[in-house]
Amino acid sequence: MKKASLRKVDIEITKLILAEEKRQQDCLIMIPSENYSSRAVREALGSVFTDKYSEGYPGKRYYQGNQVVDKMERLCIERAEKLFGVAHANVQPHSGCEGNLAILSAVCRPGDPILSQHLYMGGHLSMGQTASITSKFYRPYYYGLTKDGDINWPELESQAKKYKPKIIFCGGTGFTRVFNFARFARIADEVGAYFVADISHIPGLVVGGAHPSPKNYAHLIMTTTHKTLRGPRGAMILVTRKGLKKDPELANKIDKAVFPGLQGGPHNNNIAALCVALKEAATREFKVYARQIVKNSQALAKELIKDDFTLVGGGSANHMIWIDLTNKGLDGWTVAWAGDAAGLICNRQTVPFDARSPYYPSGLRLGTPAVTTRGMKEKEMVLVAHWLNDIVEYLRKFDLGDIGSRDKEKDQLARKIFKQKVFKDSHLSGIRSKIKKLCWKFPVQSIN
Ligand SMILES: *Cc1c(COP(=O)(O)O)cnc(C)c1O
Repeated sequence: MKKASLRKVDIEITKLILAEEKRQQDCLIMIPSENYSSRAVREALGSVFTDKYSEGYPGKRYYQGNQVVDKMERLCIERAEKLFGVAHANVQPHSGCEGNLAILSAVCRPGDPILSQHLYMGGHLSMGQTASITSKFYRPYYYGLTKDGDINWPELESQAKKYKPKIIFCGGTGFTRVFNFARFARIADEVGAYFVADISHIPGLVVGGAHPSPKNYAHLIMTTTHKTLRGPRGAMILVTRKGLKKDPELANKIDKAVFPGLQGGPHNNNIAALCVALKEAATREFKVYARQIVKNSQALAKELIKDDFTLVGGGSANHMIWIDLTNKGLDGWTVAWAGDAAGLICNRQTVPFDARSPYYPSGLRLGTPAVTTRGMKEKEMVLVAHWLNDIVEYLRKFDLGDIGSRDKEKDQLARKIFKQKVFKDSHLSGIRSKIKKLCWKFPVQSIN
């Protein structure tokens, strides 16, 4: 077989990779669930492990030739168990959604009640939301957040007592405070539910000591590996000692639910890359990184409050800033697209008690994990806040046409025109140049 480089084999995809590299270099990636993986992680991800079939688990495979893969997966499991301080780790889930589905299928029967944070209040699809398959297999109930962004504890408690859920999930994609895992555990224990902590957004903070760990409170922990953990795309299910006390068969049930229950062959290249990410996350530098994520988030929040932005939760205790744009008279869609044109990449999201629709919500989410990986600090966060404020103030004077019109067709047409306009707008492209200049002081190549 002739060894030809990617450039020789496929110039189209080569160009697209280079274009994406340039985008990631030139923009402020402020999406809370994104990050930059290291060169080492991506080297493992692009390794020959992608070629091997290894259905099963180390020592119990359905294919021959897994001597090396067994060593690799064992090493990964060992590192995960040690880093998170848990009794058992399954490192095979292909993504967070599959991770949660595996947990559900391991401990619930179809039709069993489950309880999770409501989608419109920052919950995640994969824990029983209407659009997700999990709502068809199980009977979902929800709890919300309070106006100031905390868990609505009385609601959670009364739902738990009324419906006796099999699982109480903690975690979502909208939460700017510190999770009170002990309080979740008390309620779950009282009603005999499994307490599952989905820490997909914050595993990096947990292992870095910038957020408490749920290991002594939850029975199961689910986390993605590509967000604050800075690994490849994927997920892990962690079984705690408390989980094994509740059900000694829990680890076995989880393993069976992942394979053969839900998935076929593990993505060995992902697992190898995760193994590298876990090694990186165990270093002292990573602890410094995790703490800086929170410091940056708090600096950004403080600056935004000065510019009269309303933050859900009143600030940020983690990596995430959740803005309610209602007082600015704009929706999250408009600001997110203008931000895209200006090179400040964030995403829109509903806020608790949102008066607008989920597709055109009142909220905007920003996160500091990716810019912190580049080496940006509090000083740069002041600039980010300044640029976001500039974009918002500019939009308030902008001719939005029929955006927000009750006539749906008019609204749609106006939004289409708006999207074209912002990418040609000279004020926004001016911000884009300034952002690019800052970004070049923090080259992605230096971490890659
Ligand atoms: C990101 C996320 C998931 C889903 O992860 P995917 O890898 O996108 O499937 C699940 N739960 C929470 C809380 C998340 O933030």
